[in-house]
Amino acid sequence: MGRFEPVPTAHATRTRDAVIGMLMASVCGAVAALGVLGATGRVVLVWDRVVGRPLAIVEEMPGPETGPDCPLDARYVDEPPDRMPPDTLAAWQRLRTAAGGDGVQLCLNDGKRSREQQARQFADAVQQFGSAELASKYVLQPDESMHVVGIAVDIQPLASAGWVERNGAALGWCRRYENEPWHFEYDLAYATSGCPALLPSATGS
Ligand SMILES: [Zn+2]
Repeated sequence: MGRFEPVPTAHATRTRDAVIGMLMASVCGAVAALGVLGATGRVVLVWDRVVGRPLAIVEEMPGPETGPDCPLDARYVDEPPDRMPPDTLAAWQRLRTAAGGDGVQLCLNDGKRSREQQARQFADAVQQFGSAELASKYVLQPDESMHVVGIAVDIQPLASAGWVERNGAALGWCRRYENEPWHFEYDLAYATSGCPALLPSATGS
């Protein structure tokens, strides 16, 4: 979130991926046991009912740190989307397919983040801007980010994001912030209610 976009780094993720694999395996087991994940719309409600701790598992699920270059613009990446919550993932795939039908390719420059990943982005911003107060103008804390909740995607390049802004609402995807033309959030209700008015920014700055 925010205009601060950390440069993707290809630091060693081997051990981390092994840990993520184990985490995914255990979560997938839980999903299989539940059977109805996402059937009622918001995945967080299902987790809430079963675990008794709202968002606990979803929020701790890390997303990819980076991905292959976006074929349209190598300044961006196209992350694999597969650690999004299932309903968001299905909605993302519908959006991407619809865009493709119009000859538009969407690159997922950033999607799911864990609380820990969001906290690291915030710490990086503190380093870059020199204080937590300044950093908080550009990057959200883990408790605030819809990337941690798992319903947010950052779409690049901006021409592709523009297609989503014009066409995404019917599939539940809306731009939310005036200062982030790349940032979209999924809520099935948007398909009937339309998109809410844009807010100036995610951080209120
Ligand atoms: Zn975003």
